[in-house]
Amino acid sequence: MTKYRYVAPATVDEGLEILRQGGGKVRIAAGCTNLLPDMRAKELADCVLMDISGLGELRGVDADGGSIRIGALTTIDEMLHSPLLEQEAVALWRACRQFADPLVRNRATVGGNLANGSPAADSAVPLLALDASATVASRAAGKREVPLCELWRGPYQTAIAADELITAITFPRDAARRSWFIKNGLRRAMAISLITVATAVKQDGCVVTGARVALGAVGPTPLRARRTEEYLQGRAIDAATLAEAAEIVRGEISPISDLRASKEYRTHLAGVLLRRALEAVRA
Ligand SMILES: Cc1cc2nc3c(=O)[nH]c(=O)nc-3n(C[C@H](O)[C@H](O)[C@H](O)COP(=O)(O)OP(=O)(O)OC[C@H]3O[C@@H](n4cnc5c(N)ncnc54)[C@H](O)[C@@H]3O)c2cc1C
Repeated sequence: MTKYRYVAPATVDEGLEILRQGGGKVRIAAGCTNLLPDMRAKELADCVLMDISGLGELRGVDADGGSIRIGALTTIDEMLHSPLLEQEAVALWRACRQFADPLVRNRATVGGNLANGSPAADSAVPLLALDASATVASRAAGKREVPLCELWRGPYQTAIAADELITAITFPRDAARRSWFIKNGLRRAMAISLITVATAVKQDGCVVTGARVALGAVGPTPLRARRTEEYLQGRAIDAATLAEAAEIVRGEISPISDLRASKEYRTHLAGVLLRRALEAVRA
């Protein structure tokens, strides 16, 4: 049987010191919904498990000046029950509503969802559309902000070093920006996303003055569709714009075929879901 050494720091500072001393052998354990299956599959061995679940300072959703800050240990269920997110970050709130089931939502944290690095991570796509950054801390370098568009390097690979901890996620508050999220899976609940789309759009009358479009499970990492965003700038979201935007987004992605869907189906679906997500935010 594989044995793990278990440590539970009492403060973030203590946790950062454990990571510093660990020489790359410490695994951070938050909700453990990804970690436990990895342990059972013996993909984790010879490591120290650092349980951060008791660090209350990493939990909670607050409005801090012009931004919204979510502690890395905040669970998907806590985000789902945040009136602030329901009102001001609809895309993220909708992603939480469709995330797994109540049991998993009670344990799974937003920090773990982002740090795990899955191209299909459900909180990643709305947070990308909301222009979020991760606050990352280490003993050696202190705190740094990593824009989410720079966080992922490939499937399950991130820019977070072995001695670093995500402490929070922040994004700008903007009551005038409307956001939306759509998840498509093979079932209505407990489904791994076949594809996800989020839009966050600001409009002056019916003209788009700023658009962000993000997609998940259509490439090696969650991604921003920059050409589609540029195309939308200055246009009204009408039938012609929707048709053209759907074509552009299909050219920006490179999904794979797997057991659940073909590359062609995912590519087609990306255009369909983008149209729906833009219709949902249309002024
Ligand atoms: C049955 C089931 C259903 C699921 N359904 C969904 C779903 O619908 N949508 C979805 O997106 N995911 C889903 N998942 C995956 C998983 O629940 C999420 O990715 C979850 O958010 C991970 O968070 P966690 O706190 O459990 O992370 P953990 O399992 O504790 O950790 C995951 C990884 O992140 C690292 N980590 C954790 N916290 C930090 C931190 N603060 N800083 C740095 N590194 C950190 C860990 O070291 C580990 O490598 C599902 C999993 C299961 C088992």
